[in-house]
Amino acid sequence: MNPTLTVKQFRALLPIICNRETSQSPDGWTKDNPLWGHCAAVSLLAQNIFGGELLRASLAEIPEFAFMRSHYWNRLKDGTVEDFTKSQFGNNYPLGLKAEVRNREYAVSYSETAKRYKLLAFRLAKVLNYPNSLFDDEIYKKCFYAALDSPCQKMKFGCVIMHKGLAVFECQNKTIEPLKSLCQPECIRFSIRSRTESMLGACGHAEEIALWETVHRGIPIHECDLYIAGLYSNGLPWFKKCAEHTCLRCAVQMYHAKIRNIHVPVFDRWEAISTEKAIETALAYATQNKKI
Ligand SMILES: [Zn+2]
Ligand SMILES: [Zn+2]
Repeated sequence: MNPTLTVKQFRALLPIICNRETSQSPDGWTKDNPLWGHCAAVSLLAQNIFGGELLRASLAEIPEFAFMRSHYWNRLKDGTVEDFTKSQFGNNYPLGLKAEVRNREYAVSYSETAKRYKLLAFRLAKVLNYPNSLFDDEIYKKCFYAALDSPCQKMKFGCVIMHKGLAVFECQNKTIEPLKSLCQPECIRFSIRSRTESMLGACGHAEEIALWETVHRGIPIHECDLYIAGLYSNGLPWFKKCAEHTCLRCAVQMYHAKIRNIHVPVFDRWEAISTEKAIETALAYATQNKKI
């Protein structure tokens, strides 16, 4: 179950997580107008949390704001229209905006927008889970960012492979082309009990992709540690309550690969488990002796 956040709570948190660094127009940003230049990044973040569509209008015909090129806002899943960064315009909200629906891929294709949106997503998770020292951990941050890029409709995972103190590979779960029909239109995993039947699904799991890529790159896998962290489909983090791995598919592959240790986020810290322990704990879920 996704952790919930209301529109009101989200709105209240925006001035806390938005700053000059996340503004598209840093020169115009002030403390008194914290949402200035944040429409695209905030709309992407809002779409994660509330679903629905991105709305966009050109600002080209509005002399005062033409330099910003466009304005984004949201139509939420329940149909309500929310402009979360409306306050940035003060009493001067641009009139006559012609809204068109834009897909997410278009908005994130601007790498600067994508970067700002991801930073906001990380900050939002951090304030919602404050205090949690994982948010000060560089490896956790890499896992979080990698997971945000996952196209999975159900859970997003980010994986980092560490070799001799260096992050040598990062990836996320993603669609395996020949299996993509299992995800169209809706992910088949929604009709299967979580952590069982782990081969059935369109997604390649982050751990297995990471193992193979590390091997292909000629990095000695038995000298590597694997870090894996999950996000719910709304982009908010999933922390474990005990040191365990819950996927037998990946646990078995990590065992054969002879990876050193698997690190999982338990509450506010990484905990290391062996591949044997990962199989043991994942087996309990696969056989439904333990349930998510
Ligand atoms: Zn998936
Ligand atoms: Zn797995």
